[in-house]
Amino acid sequence: MTQIIDGSTLVGAADSQAALAQPCEAETASSTISLGSDTALDFPEAPDSAIAQVVIPADDAVTEAPATETAATEPTAPETAAPVSAFAAFGLRRELLEGLAAIGFEEPSPIQKAAIPELMLGRDLVGQAQTGTGKTAAFGLPLLERLDPGQRTPQVLVLTPTRELAMQVAEAFNSYAACMKGVKVLPVYGGADFRDQIQQLRRGVQIVVGTPGRVMDHMRQGTLDLSGLRSLVLDEADEMLRMGFIDDVKWVLEQLPAERQVVLFSATMPPEIRRISQNHLKNPAEVTIRQKAADGRRIRQRHLVVNGPQKLEALERVLEAVGSEGVIIFARTKAITLTVAESLEQHGYDVAVLNGDVPQTQRERTIERLRDGRVNVLVATDVAARGLDVDRIGLVINYDIPFDGEAYVHRIGRTGRAGRSGEAILFLTPRERRFLGGLERAVNQPIEPMEVPGNASINQHRLDRLRQKLTAALQQPACNPEERALLGEILQRVAQEQACTPEQLALAALELGLGGKPLLLQGEERWGQGRAGAPTRERDRDRGERDRGGERRPFNDRHQERGEDGPEDNMERFRIEVGWRDRVKPGNIVGAIANESGLAGRSIGKIRIFDAHSTVDLPKGMPDDVFADLRRLRVMNKELQISRLGS
Ligand code: AMP
Repeated sequence: MTQIIDGSTLVGAADSQAALAQPCEAETASSTISLGSDTALDFPEAPDSAIAQVVIPADDAVTEAPATETAATEPTAPETAAPVSAFAAFGLRRELLEGLAAIGFEEPSPIQKAAIPELMLGRDLVGQAQTGTGKTAAFGLPLLERLDPGQRTPQVLVLTPTRELAMQVAEAFNSYAACMKGVKVLPVYGGADFRDQIQQLRRGVQIVVGTPGRVMDHMRQGTLDLSGLRSLVLDEADEMLRMGFIDDVKWVLEQLPAERQVVLFSATMPPEIRRISQNHLKNPAEVTIRQKAADGRRIRQRHLVVNGPQKLEALERVLEAVGSEGVIIFARTKAITLTVAESLEQHGYDVAVLNGDVPQTQRERTIERLRDGRVNVLVATDVAARGLDVDRIGLVINYDIPFDGEAYVHRIGRTGRAGRSGEAILFLTPRERRFLGGLERAVNQPIEPMEVPGNASINQHRLDRLRQKLTAALQQPACNPEERALLGEILQRVAQEQACTPEQLALAALELGLGGKPLLLQGEERWGQGRAGAPTRERDRDRGERDRGGERRPFNDRHQERGEDGPEDNMERFRIEVGWRDRVKPGNIVGAIANESGLAGRSIGKIRIFDAHSTVDLPKGMPDDVFADLRRLRVMNKELQISRLGS
């Protein structure tokens, strides 16, 4: 599917050589090329410019470019030749191809297929794509291709919203250009040594990647000479807008030479970004990656409803049962990040926190630790996690609901990266349930409901994990050979002394490995499961039935209270200090206890209301912390002061 527009042909990677060779033959106000899909996204036209627009369908996984599609659209690759990188078809110089081979890029991602030919022609380009689509190489490779290593002043300037992204982009440039001689890339961002940056700039740098503020500082001081600039890239433009950098970006744009190439990448296209593109880009090609839909497909999204006080326990349960190799938990405030991290630390997780109070140097170390697996769980606020790009994140937990759909999309986009699958779980309090629809619209798909994992699934998960660890330990012993020999001797000796079987010995060793901690969760599952669970519609219904039901009778009879008709086998009877004179109804008691304890309404047994107190039957095995919470719980403005009857 090829359309010839304004001097260039927009095609997939494979057609790129043909595209490069082919001059413009027609002019169209806007045209859409959909790669591998009939459905194209609506992308508003920029007025008075001929726009080539490529809309790329959801399955744009960077590492998942379907082989068949590539083969079908790759007329330039010689069929019989030894495997040649599909990047060769773009006409990239040999050193770049070698650099790409070294980092294992074989197939261009859809955005690379669409953008590289355009940018190699020197065209301006607007790309609607998020990180994870391969956009860095989409602009990095063609700009490197067009670079003149002989020119010592900056030829490429990339503006990024965050320091992390600046460093990542600079690193990416370095890796692509690893085999090119004389290419100097310099990340410039606040917090790093200014004088050091000046020295490096003086020595000669061709590519500068920086945050707007620091770049402007250098420009004003005359330490960043952009008179020879050829290309400007605005990376994550919508993030720069959200972070209040847009005036800085415009200022930078106004200082640049008139003849320059501008590339704008943005995950979303708010009007302000669209305006920048209209005012500062000339006749740009447009490429859209339908990332949201891609996220939707690659990221399993679920929500659970949980009361505020039970969120921490629900979180621990989710981590135990769903846990993955890298987890980001989003919280709304710095204080919550700390509370959550402390609680998880107590439960033995390797946790790190990223919030606005964390100094820059520590942030970088934290992200590095998350990347290499020394830290597995990161608790972060939105601002602190901006631009965070770590491939090994398998699970994003929205511990607090994000402020809007856009923030939700950004958050869940931290997982499912580089072609991997990911999971996202959203915590909603009962009151926040009404926002679910808005978030579902933002991702254009339902966010499935889930229950807080119960004891059974947590226990199953624990057993599975133990089995996996055991298998891994067998396959990759952690000890060195001498230590293993010593361990073997100990085993032999104990086996002889105790006359035990190898299996008995292995079991004892496993138990030792548990470190005295119980392997399985014990106790009434209903407590654990329900406590973290939400008041569901079912529970609301229970409450209604009970209100209508026959328990609503005042009693004064001590025998009745003592329970001549005692509680059922698996239930215990409790006394609460609120009664008929407080105008309490069974529904109030069920509602309050269910909300506070998380018990399903149907698990709450008989309720008898007396003059100044009541009794309620609850499942046996109430955890101490629930008991403590229920003691303080207020119903009809009175503390329940719950106590066990008979105690
Ligand atoms: P980006 O969207 O540029 O942040 O890229 C996301 C991830 O995909 C990074 O880890 C890149 O190194 C990787 N990546 C980008 N392009 C390719 C490619 N063509 N083949 C394999 N990996 C890629």
